[in-house]
Amino acid sequence: MADAKKKESKYDLAIIGAGPAGLAASVYASRYKLSNAVIGPELGGYVSTTHLVEDYLGFETITGMDLAEKFSEHAKKFGAELIQEQVSAAERQANGRGDWVLTTWTDRKIRARAVLLATGTKHNKIGVPGEDKFEGRGVSYCVTCDAAFFKEKPVVIVGGGDSALKGALHLTEFASHLYVVHRRKDFRAEPTWVDRVKAKQNVTFILENEVTEVLGDGKVDGVKLKQPFKGKDSLNVDGVFIEIGSTPDPTLANAFKANIDDGNFVLVNDCQRTSAERVWAAGDNTTNSAMFRQIGTASAEGSVAAGDIYEHLNDPKAKWADKGAVSESTPVQTVVTD
Ligand SMILES: Cc1cc2nc3c(=O)[nH]c(=O)nc-3n(C[C@H](O)[C@H](O)[C@H](O)COP(=O)(O)OP(=O)(O)OC[C@H]3O[C@@H](n4cnc5c(N)ncnc54)[C@H](O)[C@@H]3O)c2cc1C
Repeated sequence: MADAKKKESKYDLAIIGAGPAGLAASVYASRYKLSNAVIGPELGGYVSTTHLVEDYLGFETITGMDLAEKFSEHAKKFGAELIQEQVSAAERQANGRGDWVLTTWTDRKIRARAVLLATGTKHNKIGVPGEDKFEGRGVSYCVTCDAAFFKEKPVVIVGGGDSALKGALHLTEFASHLYVVHRRKDFRAEPTWVDRVKAKQNVTFILENEVTEVLGDGKVDGVKLKQPFKGKDSLNVDGVFIEIGSTPDPTLANAFKANIDDGNFVLVNDCQRTSAERVWAAGDNTTNSAMFRQIGTASAEGSVAAGDIYEHLNDPKAKWADKGAVSESTPVQTVVTD
């Protein structure tokens, strides 16, 4: 008990998620002199697992790891407390100012006047036999993290969006041969990524086809295909990379009683306010920015939220619904996965 008490800390703003949305919000919050903590297991969020970023203004080309470090260093230098933990529960104080109290996985308590949910999304699974069984033993959702384990080995990547094609490009630097399996004829990825992968010698595209099972005995040794390819209904591969988009985990939004849409995206108004009082949301997990889920849009939403948080906390007469309440009637968005 004494230990838990000692661990309790208090801030104006608790930011859950240390990706671009959370860290950008922190930079602005610090400028507004709001004490803030950014709580998240990975500094930089998804950016830290991205191979190359070439479309974020000011950086013609930069590795995800370097950009993630720049983001977290910036937030830290401006005053953020970075807490590398996961938030597992949230509760609103019934008395006093109605602060939110967050609990982390090590039972640390974080009390704050306002909360920003910047928890991003989680990788989608293809949902076929063998996928869960071989996760971490040949099945991967992170090319940057795992490509080097497949040096001179044949691998397959599933997906047709930017993440899949950029991942494919990175994999060609390691794998003996790479199969790109995509269920459609055309790619959603930017043409530049498709062209760069096509220019590689060690790639085969298998389009309008799907992986239906991950095969192996102890570790992956192949995948089954929906349609035969060159007369064979399976591919011999040692690694299976899955890059078919991502969806938010609704657990925390539900803990805050913040309304979400059918795809688990948090419903927000123009100021990034959710339906739960003094809870804002920003980044890939929200319905804003036309669901264009990028570093630039995530940081923009975080910045907008921080500005509104500052205004709201500094106006004693402010009501939650003043800036337009979020209702369940907010249109449900379509979730495109690959
Ligand atoms: C492979 C790949 C390549 C990409 N390439 C580009 C690119 O080149 N350019 C570009 O603009 N965008 C790119 N993106 C998209 C970009 O990374 C995201 O749009 C951006 O990171 C979203 O930022 P975010 O802060 O909303 O969420 P995230 O970056 O997902 O960060 C959210 C963080 O919240 C944490 N979190 C979740 N739940 C909790 C909890 N309960 N407690 C504490 N923390 C929690 C997560 O662990 C995560 O670290 C890429 C994405 C991927 C997957």
